[in-house]
Amino acid sequence: MKLTFLGSGHGVPEPNRNYSCALLEVKDKRYLVDIGMDPTHELIKRGFTPSDIAAVFITHTHGDHMNGMVGFADICSWFYKDADPLILIPRLDPVEALKGWLQQTCGGLRESIRFQKLNEGIVYDDGTLKVCALRNGHMPDSYSFFIEAEGKKLLFTGDLKGGDGPTADYARFATVDGIDLVVAESAHFDAMLYLEPLLRHPPKKLCINHYNWTWIESCYHLKQQINDKIPTVLATDGLEIQL
Ligand SMILES: [Zn+2]
Repeated sequence: MKLTFLGSGHGVPEPNRNYSCALLEVKDKRYLVDIGMDPTHELIKRGFTPSDIAAVFITHTHGDHMNGMVGFADICSWFYKDADPLILIPRLDPVEALKGWLQQTCGGLRESIRFQKLNEGIVYDDGTLKVCALRNGHMPDSYSFFIEAEGKKLLFTGDLKGGDGPTADYARFATVDGIDLVVAESAHFDAMLYLEPLLRHPPKKLCINHYNWTWIESCYHLKQQINDKIPTVLATDGLEIQL
């Protein structure tokens, strides 16, 4: 399984980090986690197209995690007509808004682009990738994803509850030992709050993602504290992690 950060930024633009979007490659299949930016150009740069995407998993409906859907669904509707992604989304009302928008831009949303409402539990299993959605406290209907493929385990926190997400959300569902990689957001609290739950059930690797200037010092502090036990990296756009 290979994870590539197409966008590792938070909700406010920065020069070199785009909005949330990660590409997962497993065998000959490709998936996206969040679509805050339109991923089309980044896919093409890597030799892929939107037609290669089997599924898109959206953690929550804030713009920096979902607004890229407009461009992606647009190009899949009028040009990449063999694209048939399944888009898993916490709420279906944005799909109605998307249909209205695309009616104006490209004649409408093509029917084989399918949408499915997320619920807690196993939400996807195509025999290659299995995804379990875990409800978190970031907003009503927001999720973290526990992803399994090729015998590897990946926990993608998405955005957590502001203020105490690492102890309120992360500690509740990161109770499995031997997780290969935790991708932990750090835009909404002091990253040091991750320390105790991480040490209780240490993953093999940690990637701090979605960090901003408010909490950047705490991200470096966390890395300094645990790097010898849990190799830690701060996500940047283009970063690839092989599991
Ligand atoms: Zn966010």
